[in-house]
Parts: sequence; structure tokens; C-alpha cells
Amino acid sequence: MSRWYCASLAVLLSTALVGRADQPLKQYTFTEPHMGTRFKVLVYSADKESANRAAKAAFARIAALDGIMSDYRPASELMQLCQKAGGDPVPVSPELFTVLARSQDLARASDGAFDVTIGPVVKLWRRARKSIQLPDPEELAAARKLVGHDKIRLDAARRTVQLTTRGMKLDLGGIAKGYAADEALKVLADHGLKCALVAAGGDIAVGEAPPNSKGWKIGIAPLLDPESQPKHALLLSKAAVSTSGDAEQYVEIEGKRYSHIVDPRTGVGVLGQFSVTVIARHGITTDCLATAVSVLGPEKGLALIAKHRGVAALIVEKRGQKEQTYESPGFQQFLIKPSQK
Ligand code: ADP
Ligand code: MG
Repeated sequence: MSRWYCASLAVLLSTALVGRADQPLKQYTFTEPHMGTRFKVLVYSADKESANRAAKAAFARIAALDGIMSDYRPASELMQLCQKAGGDPVPVSPELFTVLARSQDLARASDGAFDVTIGPVVKLWRRARKSIQLPDPEELAAARKLVGHDKIRLDAARRTVQLTTRGMKLDLGGIAKGYAADEALKVLADHGLKCALVAAGGDIAVGEAPPNSKGWKIGIAPLLDPESQPKHALLLSKAAVSTSGDAEQYVEIEGKRYSHIVDPRTGVGVLGQFSVTVIARHGITTDCLATAVSVLGPEKGLALIAKHRGVAALIVEKRGQKEQTYESPGFQQFLIKPSQK
């Protein structure tokens, strides 16, 4: 058994050969940087060539999605759309429409805790992390005027998006990686590799269970000592899991710890040390919900999870020197039982 760590989730790998004796399935691993993180593709395949071909196609799909959704590349479809903010509705790709429609659904369901119009405010907090200085209040006030999910108008029939206010900047950092993991998994399945895992930092989507097993084993890194043995190990198949938190990206100013996740209702980085793990069928769902629950906190966050069928969550918060854990009623069913270890 070996393990591979991203920020907050660890894939616990069994390296034994599996499959039929005449056609043993071997595990192949691929890694490429995309969307500001390291994407990892794990497949079980009878031969290396098929694995290579499928992984190449999966990474090409991820790169294409990055070309659509990046907020770093001025040429991305998303940034081109933002250029037209304040103007007429703009026709967009099916992918961008899908992600924006899901974002708007969650913005409404979470009372604005998840809001992709947060871009101008996120930009100021990115700068704050570099300079270790709080954002300038006037700049923050100006940025906040550009935030609000009611400033996005979607027309599903025409597949258009209208941004109502000039200067708006959309940020899909809280949903695009989960969606990309789903889409990459689909590409692998189209290549006949249904037993696969795609990890995009803290967002993981898995297909069918590895041969002779009940699922993929994924450990949730402990909040206070991420390198120590996971306290919670999940067993997942045909599912996705995302962990959001401030484990890596935060800034501490005057004794307060601000996360890279911002509360759109206040314009302030979420305070404290925490991690939120969400499990659902798809990464597009887990990624944005984990971000939303990070903003809402345990009580309102678990109420939001309860509104979604088949979705479970674990929230870990630092309280004093200890970890305080909260979980949704369905969470236990995904944990590895001692008999499965
Ligand atoms: P990570 O990117 O570390 O996996 P998340 O999935 O939680 O973490 O996404 C955080 C990113 O989402 C931020 O870096 C920012 O780009 C964006 N973001 C921050 N706050 C919000 C918010 N309230 N709603 C939507 N997106 C947000
Ligand atoms: Mg997220």
C-alpha cells in the first residue's frame, strides 16, 4: 500500500496486480499540471498503450476546459465574456453554460455564499496574501459593487450569458476543477477504461471500483497534522469527493487567519482553520458545495447539504488546540469499515 497526497486528500493505492490471469489489469498513473494544480489520472488497463492513449485524451479535455474557464488567461472564453460585461447577452459554449448554470443554482440555494462574481474581491485577497496586508477598504468597497449573482443573466434557450455591470470578473476557481475531473473521467470511460480516478488537487472523481475491490480508498488528511495517518478513509466508486479549506492558501494578519475562500456577503476571507469534505455523484457538485459550506460554517453548511439528495459532508474546524468535527447523517456510509481495511 502506498499513498499519494494532494493538499487534503490522499489516494491510498494498492499496487498488487489484479484482473484475469490471462489478461492481468495493471495500474497506470499519469500526472500533468493544469488549472494551477497537478492533475493525476489513474487507470487500470490491460496494456500500456491503451492507458497512454486514454490519459492523453483526458488531459487534452482538461486543457480545453482550462482554455474556456481560466481566469488567468486573457484569451479564455470566460475572460472574453467578462470583457463584454455591461453589454448585450453573449453566446457561450455548452461547457461554460453548464458550469455557470450550476453556479447560479448554488448561489441561490446557498443565499449567495457561493458566488462566481466574486472575482474582483478574490483578486484583492490574492494580493493581500502576497503583501501580508489587508485589502484597502476603498478598493474593497469598489470591488464589492461588482459582486452579486443577480448580475448574471442566463438564457438557456439561446445559450447566452449577460453580465449586467461593466468591470465584472467571474472566477470559476471553486467549481471548474471538479467539473474538469468529471469530464476527464468520461473521456477515460469512452476509451474503455471505466475503472479510473482523476484527481485535481483537492477534487477527485472516481469511476468503477478497482478490480477485486469495493472502491477507491481515499484518505482525508487530518486538519492539524496533514502528514499524519488519515483519521477518515473513504471507499468510493462512481462518485466524487472535494475538500476545501485553508490548508495551503491563507494569510495571517494581526493574529487572524483569512482563507482564500471569500464570503461574498462581506468581502472578507473566511476566518479560522477548517476543512470541508463533500461527497456526491459528480465533481461539479462536490467542488462548489465544499466551497459554499466553507463560507456558511457547520450549522448552515450542513443544512445546505441536507437539501441535496445523495450528498454527504464532513467539516473539521480548529477550536483552541483541538479539532472539532461535524458530519452529515449520510457521511458514515462512505467510511471504510475496519473489516474492509
Ligand atoms: P481550491 O481551489 O483550493 O481547491 P475551492 O474549491 O474551495 O478551493 O475554491 C476556492 C477558489 O474559489 C478561490 O481560490 C477563488 O478562486 C474561488 N472562490 C473564493 N470564494 C468563493 C466563493 N464564495 N464563491 C465562489 N468561488 C469562490
Ligand atoms: Mg471547491
